[in-house]
Amino acid sequence: MIEFLFLDLDDTILDFGAAEHAAIIATFREIGLEPTDELLRRYIEINRATWRRLEAGELTREQVLTKRFELLFAELGFDGSPERTQEIYGYRLSLEHPFLEGAPELLDALYGKYKLYIASNGIALVQDRRIKDTGLARYFDGIFISERIGYNKPSKEFFDICFEAIEGFDKSRAMIVGDSLTSDIAGGIAAGIRTCYFNPKGKPNESGIKPSYEIRSLSELVPLLERI
Ligand SMILES: [Mg+2]
Repeated sequence: MIEFLFLDLDDTILDFGAAEHAAIIATFREIGLEPTDELLRRYIEINRATWRRLEAGELTREQVLTKRFELLFAELGFDGSPERTQEIYGYRLSLEHPFLEGAPELLDALYGKYKLYIASNGIALVQDRRIKDTGLARYFDGIFISERIGYNKPSKEFFDICFEAIEGFDKSRAMIVGDSLTSDIAGGIAAGIRTCYFNPKGKPNESGIKPSYEIRSLSELVPLLERI
């Protein structure tokens, strides 16, 4: 019987990549730019490079949001307002639901029956924003982000620090669910808990990392938990 459930965030519960993709296509259409593959590819490159300038301390977050469009428009010779485009994009992004299919239903089904924890590798500020924007926090008894913990999955230390923070924790009643064999599943194995590999595309596993369980759809998790 499982009592403590660790859930990976990116590509297990949330699909921000898809939300961003849909929002930028809608934005380009609205400002009169045809969202060709070439345009999207160039936008992604400029967007990444601009966010790196934030990490380097050259730009503030606010500046990045408009600078990426300013650079793109300059390159295209397009006469558009970066500020207005960012406004449209922010609005479009807020309309997109970044949850993976079945994730809200899964969380509702698990809530109150299991102690739920987020176990995420990632930048604390980014994950904090995602958790806040999506209203996820209310489902969870604890949120463990690697940047704050000081270790990343799959290190055993990451999990040991999580376990110590949970009152009455018992490894034999714990499981991690995640889409990454090398971080979620390898980490769970190293930490001595059960593991459930979320493999929506049914990718063949040639890694040598053997999860305790494997699911193709999030809807399989509740029946699995009731069975084990
Ligand atoms: Mg993941």
